[in-house]
Amino acid sequence: MSAEIICVGTELLLGDILNTNVQFLAKELASLGIPHYYQSVVGDNLGRLGRVIDLASQRSSILIFTGGLGPTPDDLTTEAIADFFQTPLEEKPEIIQDIAAKFAKRGRKMSPNNHKQALIPIGADILPNPSGTAPGIIWQPRRDLTIFTFPGVPSEMKRMWVETAVPYLKSLGWGKEIIYSRTLRFRGIGESALAEKVAPFFELTNPTVAPYASKGEVRLRVSALASSESGASDLISPIAKQIQEIAGTDYFGADDDTLASVTGKLLLAAGETLSVAESCTGGGLGQMLTSVSGSSEYFLGGVIAYHNRVKMSTLGVKEEDLDQFGAVSEVVAKQMALGVKQRLGSTWALSITGIAGPSGGTETKPVGLVYVGLAGPTERVDSFKYLLGTGRERDTIRYISACNALDRLRRKLLERQRN
Ligand code: ATP
Ligand code: MG
Repeated sequence: MSAEIICVGTELLLGDILNTNVQFLAKELASLGIPHYYQSVVGDNLGRLGRVIDLASQRSSILIFTGGLGPTPDDLTTEAIADFFQTPLEEKPEIIQDIAAKFAKRGRKMSPNNHKQALIPIGADILPNPSGTAPGIIWQPRRDLTIFTFPGVPSEMKRMWVETAVPYLKSLGWGKEIIYSRTLRFRGIGESALAEKVAPFFELTNPTVAPYASKGEVRLRVSALASSESGASDLISPIAKQIQEIAGTDYFGADDDTLASVTGKLLLAAGETLSVAESCTGGGLGQMLTSVSGSSEYFLGGVIAYHNRVKMSTLGVKEEDLDQFGAVSEVVAKQMALGVKQRLGSTWALSITGIAGPSGGTETKPVGLVYVGLAGPTERVDSFKYLLGTGRERDTIRYISACNALDRLRRKLLERQRN
């Protein structure tokens, strides 16, 4: 017993639109515990649709179609399904009435081609569409095969899925066991290094542990099959705890935790404040910090000191140091952090200065060279050098730089907590 998702539309094959329907449905199937091994995308073509249905109906027992239910001649999904199972289509008067009423509500008249949307295979049930014109179907052309069709419009498909398909699937007994996942998030360690450290956990079957890399961080997804969320949590928590212990401070949070939110919590717990001085990130660090609701409790503000003149006038960076070492240097990063800390009166200050590219790199200072400055409650000011590489895009360098800065402060706060 397994499901297969079939998305219909030539625009998907051309790359004109992103297949968000399949992502939504795949997550939904996982959360209902319905096994799902295949996804297909097929253009608006009767012959090819027929071949996909042929293959899918041999290997899967639930077929979920999206797209191709519209009134135009290129919308062929229902026709192809009926053809394949050699079942005639019949016009459902209740669909016609429903479509006509929807048109009337908008002060429009239904056009003749909408009649096509009222044709469904004999024996199929209507899957109502509360928000759009085209309904879908639920049909068992064979005892061991259930077919669902949905329009391509994502908002319509989602509503029909939630309101009709899910209750139907639950009535068949699905969803009693549900897959829950927790995502553990790491920084400062590569995917393969982490994978090596936690390799034995990959052998587990419930929960399962699987790695995946994301921009500037590594993630492990721990998933459990259980009859309730708390049951799943009981399976996931001890494994998550062991992994966290192995990873140490490279682990920074789970699920919706971000570097900014966990660093914020540490600042809040210590009753301390933060300010930032940004050059190449142009406010990106401040953006991350302020995306956390309640961040005004600990984040005071920042200075975007992009031009050297501002670095001098606002942050007190010394002209001779700019001349001697350049704006992208350890000395300047430290002065920026100290300057903003004093100016804004915060406990901590972070600074970022670097070369985000693609232009501006030199032999000695390549694109991707970034310095982070960190000033704290004592006299001491630290600086950290990063070589983020020339292959990366400007925005990626800027994003990773802001993450690196936050991570430095997070580690510093954790270190102090431990001592
Ligand atoms: P309609 O009645 O609107 O014609 P339909 O069932 O014929 O619905 P399509 O014509 O295939 O659906 O697609 C309608 C809209 O939904 C298009 O704007 C398309 O971009 C979008 N869409 C279709 N398939 C997907 C998909 N898999 N993921 C995201 N969007 C999609
Ligand atoms: Mg269409």
